[in-house]
Amino acid sequence: NAQAQKGKTSKALKAQATPSPTDIDQKVEELLAKMTLEEKVGQMAQITLDVVGKGENRYSSIEPLQLDEAELKKALVDYKIGSVLNTANNRALTPEKWYSVISQIQEVATKDTRLGIPVIYGVDEIHGATYTAGATMFPQQIGQAASRNRELVRRGAEITAYETRASSIPWNFSPVLDLGADPRFSRQFESFGEDPYLAAELGVQMIDGYEGVRNNIGHPEHVASCMKHFLGYQVPTSGKDRTPTTISETELREYHLPSFKAAIDAGAHTIMINSGIINGVPVHSNHDILTKLLKEELGFKGLVVTDWGDIEYLHTRDRVASTHKEAIMMAVNAGVDMSMIPYQYEPFCNGLVELVKEGKVKEERINDAVRRILRVKYALNLFERPTTNPKDYPLFGSKAFEQAAYQMAAESITLLKNEKNVLPLAKSAKVLVTGPNANSMRTLNGAWTYSWQGEKVEEFTGKYNTILEALQQELGKKNVTYVPGVSYKADGKYYEEVAENIDQAVAAAKGVDAIILCLGENTSTETPGNLSDLYLSDLQTELAQKLAATGKPVILVLNEGRPRVISRIEPEVQAVVQAYQPGNFGGDALADVLSGDVNPSGKLPYNYPRYPNALVPYIHKPAAEQGKVAGVYNYEADYSPQYEFGHGLSYTTFTYSNLELSKPQLLANEQLTVSVTVKNTGSREGKETVQLFTSDLYASGITPDVRRLRRFEKIALKPGESKTLTFTLTPDDLAYIDRNGKKTIEAGEFEVRIGDQAQKFTLVGHTF
Ligand code: BGC
Repeated sequence: NAQAQKGKTSKALKAQATPSPTDIDQKVEELLAKMTLEEKVGQMAQITLDVVGKGENRYSSIEPLQLDEAELKKALVDYKIGSVLNTANNRALTPEKWYSVISQIQEVATKDTRLGIPVIYGVDEIHGATYTAGATMFPQQIGQAASRNRELVRRGAEITAYETRASSIPWNFSPVLDLGADPRFSRQFESFGEDPYLAAELGVQMIDGYEGVRNNIGHPEHVASCMKHFLGYQVPTSGKDRTPTTISETELREYHLPSFKAAIDAGAHTIMINSGIINGVPVHSNHDILTKLLKEELGFKGLVVTDWGDIEYLHTRDRVASTHKEAIMMAVNAGVDMSMIPYQYEPFCNGLVELVKEGKVKEERINDAVRRILRVKYALNLFERPTTNPKDYPLFGSKAFEQAAYQMAAESITLLKNEKNVLPLAKSAKVLVTGPNANSMRTLNGAWTYSWQGEKVEEFTGKYNTILEALQQELGKKNVTYVPGVSYKADGKYYEEVAENIDQAVAAAKGVDAIILCLGENTSTETPGNLSDLYLSDLQTELAQKLAATGKPVILVLNEGRPRVISRIEPEVQAVVQAYQPGNFGGDALADVLSGDVNPSGKLPYNYPRYPNALVPYIHKPAAEQGKVAGVYNYEADYSPQYEFGHGLSYTTFTYSNLELSKPQLLANEQLTVSVTVKNTGSREGKETVQLFTSDLYASGITPDVRRLRRFEKIALKPGESKTLTFTLTPDDLAYIDRNGKKTIEAGEFEVRIGDQAQKFTLVGHTF
């Protein structure tokens, strides 16, 4: 029977696991010794291949999917290319189609080339197996960060790995470990938000899910992860993608490095480089960052891949190299192991061979790069198993997987405001559902879903519920009136909107109990997502203001990739619910939150700004608070976010008490135990994330951060129930990076804060 068959398949799959590092190294050396220079250089090239056929539907409509054989042979046999990405031309394929495409590639790689080295195939499967039709879509990373649920993050990555392998793909360009510290940046939704500790904790969980807890990527249900984009990618000065920034050594190490360091320590196999320019130097040509910091100091043994076309950009965009060939020299000598070329590969392959022959790139550098690449190929068991067959993955798209995605969506949704307990809605409530995000699977999923900008989402999402459809099911069709009010232009740029019967929406509001106003933004990422104004659009603002003027309670649902400024309308709405980009089950999860079937438990992973000119992170310096400090300055504080990092309400109440420290003084090499009691003092069961912050009250030479998240734990409490949590801190948790970029642990007074409880303690002993 089917159940027994399932058990059998998965047992057979589990038998194959990652070879030991010693076996891998031995195999790598044997193979490397046989390779010509051209073969080595080919391994360092990553390309994209088009399928035969032209026009819009070339991937989904061609049967059978056929790659151009001459093209394939030229790339793999003549140029000995070692890696392929994104063949799908930005279209999702079914697992069977992926299998067919990748089989054709591996046939040629393993049978027609001299050494038979399999290709390593990589795809961005970033919130679920996003380029696989029928795969399970999770919330984008920013929502996962709001859930603060380590277990669910890991489970989601395990499911993604399984479904990615079911598509024959062994390498996933995820997770994003950049700090999403600037809401102007177009890719904040791809990050875990602005906090280094949160990004490190959840990043490690995601890597464990992708790679298996012991980095078991040879197991056919796991994939190699790719940490990206190393490092400081999300904070360009202009806020626009792939533009320059300045980051001091202190800030780089204090904020941007910890998430990558934690992931490297957790054994992540590959890393992608930041396309940007830091302190005038493109990261792709920065030897200090790629070799000294990443490979030597952090001891990263894995594969370093460029981002899209970035070697060529050193010449054409950044102008640090006067020719393309010079750019190749710079990047490879800086420490790049593989170039995501991805189209014209001849200049890279020929140029790098010449550079070695001219003595401008040492063959030892090439050997190092190829070793790193081959190690990942052996670890993935690609030589034994160049493809994985969808028929061995019976759980693909299963109900159990969908349930995990729903659960993540439900735990990510963050209740930001709930005046007079307008939420949850009464089951008999009559509502108006309105706004451009009310009836869109595309905006629920965000970019990188079935296509790069998410514009092809609707083709694949017929069976899932939009917010409107989920509310119709939840409250009954007759109780739900729908008038869009504003729409995103179907064929327009990402930010073009049209008014659609705003007056009709206002008229419809008069006959209902509440208005569910679904606003936010259309999907976009990277440079197409560059934005010139962080305020919510004028049309959406107008819709909100006119609806608020009816006097009916307005429940503002935000479905957005970054916090769009809502201060023009926020005081006039009674409730605000942040849904982020919650994926295919986000509509259902949101309807359950609004109706009270689910008690919200998300916490903001960033400061929600009040004004576009006041983008201060929660990790800020005391100077941002001037004006709050009596007698210092007499003007309004800069620091006044709309909602602060860590904020998130519930339908029940949690009361914190008995914050206790194990000792008033902490010596070097000692631990401090911090305990606190949390009680559910309301009438509903709920989940609460207990967040521990510390503040260094004075630091010498550098202004201390006002507060930093050091620990968090999510717990569930029944009404009346209480739990005591215990956290352990060491002096290391209180360290900071000094002006010279050195880690410092400094004696002095600190404060620990959990909920509304605070206690001071002293760190005594050496400063080191
Ligand atoms: C993005 C990366 C992505 C790569 C491959 C780039 O443009 O910056 O995040 O992994 O494309 O699709």
